[in-house]
Order: sequence, then structure tokens, then C-alpha cells
Amino acid sequence: MDPRPDTLLQHLGEEERILGAVVPPIFQTSLFVFDDPHSMWDTMQHHPGGPPFHYSRLGNPTNHIAEQKIASLEKAGACKLFASGMAAISAAIVSVCRAGSHVVMVDTAYGPSRQVMQNLLARFGVTHTLVDGRTVESVVDAIRPETSLIYLESPSSLIFRLQDLAAIAGAAKERGIATACDNTYCGALLQNPCELGVDMVVHSGTKYLNGHSDVVAGVLCTSAERMDAIVRNELALLGGALPPFPAWLLMRGLRTLRLRLAQHAGTADTLAAWLSSHPKVRQVHHVSLPDYPQRDLYLRQMRGSGGLFSFEPTFATRDEVYRFCASLKWFRIGVSWGGHESLAVPIEVHPLDWEAPRWMIRLYCGLEDPQDLIEDLERAMAQV
Ligand SMILES: *Cc1c(COP(=O)(O)O)cnc(C)c1O
Repeated sequence: MDPRPDTLLQHLGEEERILGAVVPPIFQTSLFVFDDPHSMWDTMQHHPGGPPFHYSRLGNPTNHIAEQKIASLEKAGACKLFASGMAAISAAIVSVCRAGSHVVMVDTAYGPSRQVMQNLLARFGVTHTLVDGRTVESVVDAIRPETSLIYLESPSSLIFRLQDLAAIAGAAKERGIATACDNTYCGALLQNPCELGVDMVVHSGTKYLNGHSDVVAGVLCTSAERMDAIVRNELALLGGALPPFPAWLLMRGLRTLRLRLAQHAGTADTLAAWLSSHPKVRQVHHVSLPDYPQRDLYLRQMRGSGGLFSFEPTFATRDEVYRFCASLKWFRIGVSWGGHESLAVPIEVHPLDWEAPRWMIRLYCGLEDPQDLIEDLERAMAQV
């Protein structure tokens, strides 16, 4: 029987204990040398990403350890680390676009992912349509003859909407369209889009996978065949490789992924339930709440929830939302999430189906004691 994910997270890729070291070294090297020219050229041609390795822009043994672990978690044929989530996301998008291509993207996707389409690829004649994504029809209806990619993010990371990954991937496959899904919320443990038929899975490794707010990194998982082309083109030529030291930190973070995620999720459930019954809260957006609008899909598609959710307060003006956030002590005001520290983001959200934008507060629950975090929210509620 194959070892289970938690065992693989500790050992996969580390079979070769160099000089007996229980922790693999950081291969802080830009290049790898060969005994003869034939093996160098052979490696560059046939195994550009390694192993064997020849140049750290394409592959490095430290990175390779983390990549093997993440590929196994995501049940994908191959994984590559990138210099940031955005480097991985833009590589995935560019890999299937050419002048005249069209991309269907969910409107709730991470802002900079949408900007790749709006600011960058529009300049090269690639068009896109933003769709709601909560029904399969909303995605399929936007498909055109020139559509080359459907880009998903489920759950989205501000109002936590889901897309039916298996159904959308199936519809795309029938039409020869590639699919990609940002799986950052799920940290590779709560959901595996490749298993549901999605072609490319991307992550901000900056969030749960590293988990200590000390690394910016990105992850791309796909089939070995598709990855070979991405290594030769988007990784090699756009050049967004992750250096080995942050890759080593990420590998270390992965060892405690399950423990951390469970703690973040438990705290988020406690806080979301507390906020749901608070008189100054209009609505809580959290996938694991019993009244979550897409509960059936959540139970079918995901294996649990994470530490991130948002709520709409009754005091929904900018000034009051700002005052609330500034009154918090343990929740610090800041973007990103996935580390040890709790964070709050006051943000105006405007999905396609809302007539007007609404102010809300996104909370990320860190590893602090949940009771201290509730007392923090209580104190800030009294200030508005
Ligand atoms: C942070 C984030 C990204 C971008 O990742 P970086 O590592 O910051 O480049 C992409 N998608 C989601 C959902 C994120 O939260």
C-alpha cells in the first residue's frame, strides 16, 4: 500500500540522506558540472528541469524535494516551484494562450490574476470574459470557438464562492479547452483539482504551504507532459524560478501543513460561528457554516475548510470598517495569509451579480488562542 500524505510530507524526496543528514542540505548553487560534454547536452535536451540538474533556473535538488511532496499531495504528474504565486499563475495562463486566444475567468479570481488578462495579455491580442462561475452554464455560455483556457479559483478568497470543478473540467475537455484552478485556499490538503480533471493547479506557496510568513513562492502542478513544455518555455524563458533557500524553507513548512491547517480551520469555525450570531454582523461568508449557500457542492468537492473567511458588518461604511480594523489588537491589518499571525483586511467587494460594491472585513485566523481572538473582535465591535 502507498504511504499516506502525512508520511510522504515527512519523507518523500529525502531517501538519499546525504552524509546521514536527517534534514536535506540547501543546494545553494547556480549550476551543476558534468564529467563530459555528452552528458551535459543530453541532460539539457532531455531532462531540462532535472533530475539530473544542470542550471538552477530550470531545476534544483532542494526545490525538487518540495516539488515531489506537493505533486504527491495534489495527485499531479509533476510540480514546479516558481518565484511567486503570480509567476506560477502567469506561466500557467501564458502556456495555453496565443494572439487571438480567449480566456474564461471567474470574476472572483484573485485581483492580480485578473490583471494578467486586463493589463498584460490584452496587449498581445488575448481577450477574456469574466463569469460568475457558480453555475456550470455561466462558464460554458462564455466559451467561444477561440477559447483556450478556463481559469477557476475555488473557493475564491474574498467571498468564498465555489465552482463545480469536475463538471467544468469535463465540459472543457469535450471542447479541447485547457483548465487551470487556483487552489491556494485549500493548501493542497482540502481539495485536489487535478483529480477532478483540471489540467493545471496553481498555488501561492506564500500562504499555507510555506505557512510562516517568511517566503514568497508559487507552485504549478500539472501532467508530466504539459510540465515539460512549461519548463522549456514559461519557466526557462520568463525565468521566474524560486531560489533554493526559500524552497528549503517551504519544504520545512510542509512538514507541519496538516497540523497548522487543522488549527487555523478550528479557530475560523469558532470565530465565524461567534460572528454569525453577533447583532452587528449582517452576513458571514465561510464555506463550513451550515447556511453556506453552496453547501452541497462544498461537502461533495472539499474535505474541510481553512482559516480564512469574511463578514459583512451592519456598519458598512468605509470609515467604520477602517475604525473596526484599527481597533483590533491581535488581528493586524495586512494582506496575505497562511502564516502564524491573524490578519484583517477591510475591503470593498463587487462581484458581477451585486448592484453595488459592499464593504466587508476579511479575517485570517492565525495560531493564537481562539478565545483571545474573540475578545479582540468583541473589543473592536464596541468601538463602532
Ligand atoms: C496570494 C495569492 C496569490 C498570489 O500569490 P503570490 O505568492 O503573492 O504571488 C494568488 N492567488 C491567491 C488566492 C492568493 O491568495
